[in-house]
Amino acid sequence: MYEEYISHISTEITEEIEKFVDDEVFGKVEYLFIENENGVYQGHCTKCHNECELDQYYKHNGYGVCPICGAKLQVKQSRYGRKNCKNDACFYYFEKSVKNPRVVICKGYYVKRDYTTDYKNPVTEYLLEAIYIFEDKKSKMLKRNYSYFGGLSWSEKKSVFDFNQGWFSPKMCYISRESIEEASKNTRFQYIPKELLEGYHSTIKVFDEFAKYPWLEQLYKIGFNNIVENKIRGSHIYNCLNYKGKDIFKILRLSRKDVKDIINSKEIITPLFLNLYQLQIKDKSMLLPSEIKKLEREYQGYIVKLKNILKYTSMRKAVKYIEKQYEKYKKYYASKGSVAITWSDYIENCIELEMDLKSEHVLYPKDVYKLHQNTMKQVKVRADKITNEKIAKRVDVLNEKYYFEYKNLVIRAAESTEELILEGKMLSHCVATNYTKPYAKGETNILLIRKISELDKPYYTVEIKGDEIKQVHGKSNCSPNKEVKEFIEAFKAEKLDKKKTKIKISVPA
Ligand SMILES: [Zn+2]
Repeated sequence: MYEEYISHISTEITEEIEKFVDDEVFGKVEYLFIENENGVYQGHCTKCHNECELDQYYKHNGYGVCPICGAKLQVKQSRYGRKNCKNDACFYYFEKSVKNPRVVICKGYYVKRDYTTDYKNPVTEYLLEAIYIFEDKKSKMLKRNYSYFGGLSWSEKKSVFDFNQGWFSPKMCYISRESIEEASKNTRFQYIPKELLEGYHSTIKVFDEFAKYPWLEQLYKIGFNNIVENKIRGSHIYNCLNYKGKDIFKILRLSRKDVKDIINSKEIITPLFLNLYQLQIKDKSMLLPSEIKKLEREYQGYIVKLKNILKYTSMRKAVKYIEKQYEKYKKYYASKGSVAITWSDYIENCIELEMDLKSEHVLYPKDVYKLHQNTMKQVKVRADKITNEKIAKRVDVLNEKYYFEYKNLVIRAAESTEELILEGKMLSHCVATNYTKPYAKGETNILLIRKISELDKPYYTVEIKGDEIKQVHGKSNCSPNKEVKEFIEAFKAEKLDKKKTKIKISVPA
C-alpha cells in the first residue's frame, strides 16, 4: 500500500537540497583545517572549499576567519586526530508531488557530514526518515522503520507529527523556507498565512491542519486566528468548531450577524470565548461579546461546572443567580467560580435525591451553600441505606456457608455499614473505608470473629475471597494470636477445605 504514497516522491538528493544543506544546515559548522608546511600555515576552508595561505596563527578548536569567503569557522590543526570532526542535523524539505502538482510533499532527513577520513572531501550521508504527503482534505505521514535486518521499510503513522523526536530531539533541525514557497505555488497551501510558517508553530502541524481543514484559512483571515493557532498547537478548543459544517458559519455555529458582532467587538476570540458565545446563542441569553469576555475570565477554571448548570437554565439566568449568591454569601466563596462548583454539585445531589429541578425553588435556592450541606448529608444517608440493603441480602447466604463455632470463638458475616465502621474504629484498621462497598457488591466477603462471651465486641476481622482467607486482622492490624490461629485452622478444615469435604461425601459409608 505504500507504493501509492511513495510514488508521489522523488528520493533524489537534488542540487537544491545539497545547496540548502551546505548553506543553511552545515553553513555555520564547517571547519578551517590548517596544515603547517615548513613554517607556512596552509588553510583549507570546508565551506568554500578553497586553499589559502594564512598570515596568522590560529589555535586548535579556536575560531578563525577564511580569508577567501570570510566565514568565521572552527579551526582544526590537521596534525591532531579528527575523530570528532563530524556534524549532523535534521531538516525538512518541501517539494511538489511528482505525480500530482497539487499535492505537497515534505521529506524529513537526518544528515551526517564526516571529515575524519579526508577533510578535503567530506562524506555527506542523507537518511530519509519521514515522508509527509499533504493532499486535499487529508495528510499522511510515513516513518522509516529500523530493523535488525536492515533494508528500507515504512510504516504509516496514525497522526502527523514532527519526526525529529526521541533520539533526534537534541539535534539541530532546519526547514527550507524557500522549498515551502516553491512547493506550495499553485496549490491551495500557498494561502497558508505567512505568520504561521515563521517558526513559532510546527510547520508540519500547520500543513497537516490546513490539509485536513481547508477552511482554517478563511477562519484565520476573518479574525479567528487565535482559534486556528490553538488548533495547530493541539490545545483544548472546547469543541467550538463543527467539523461537519458546510460553510464557515455552520462550522462556527454562528449566524452571519453574530460573526460580524464578534469581529467588530475587537475582543480576542479564544476557543473558550467562542464556546461560551455559542452556548448563550443556543439558550437565547443575548449576551454581548464584552459580557462573554468577562465570563470567560471569571469561569475559566470552572467551565465543566458551568456547563453542567446550563443543562437546567440559561447562561443569563445562571450568571445572574451566581452573582447574587456570591454578593450575599461572600463568606463561603473565594470566587464566582466556587459558587458554580457548589451549585453544580448541589444540582447533582438533587438528581440523586430525585428532586424536581424544574421547580424554581429547587433550582435556585435562597442559600445554595447551606442547602448543599444538607443535600450532601441526605445523599450519604441514602447511599448507606442502599449499601446496607445489599449487605443484608448477603448475610444469610454467607452465614450458611461460613458460620462456625469452635471452643470460645465464633465467626459470622458482617451485618451492616455501621458494624463495619465500629469494627474499624475499635480495632483501628481500615475495614469500613476500604471494604464496605466491595463487600456490599459481593466482590469480597468480610467476616467477624468474636468471643462467645463478648458477642458485641470487635475482636478479629477476616476477609475471605473464594475459598481463600485473604487477611485476618485484630487490633491495630495485629496478626492472629495462638487462640485465633487454632480457631482459623479448625475453620479452614471444616468450611474451606473443599477437597476434604468432597472426599467425605464421595466415599460411600
Ligand atoms: Zn572559505
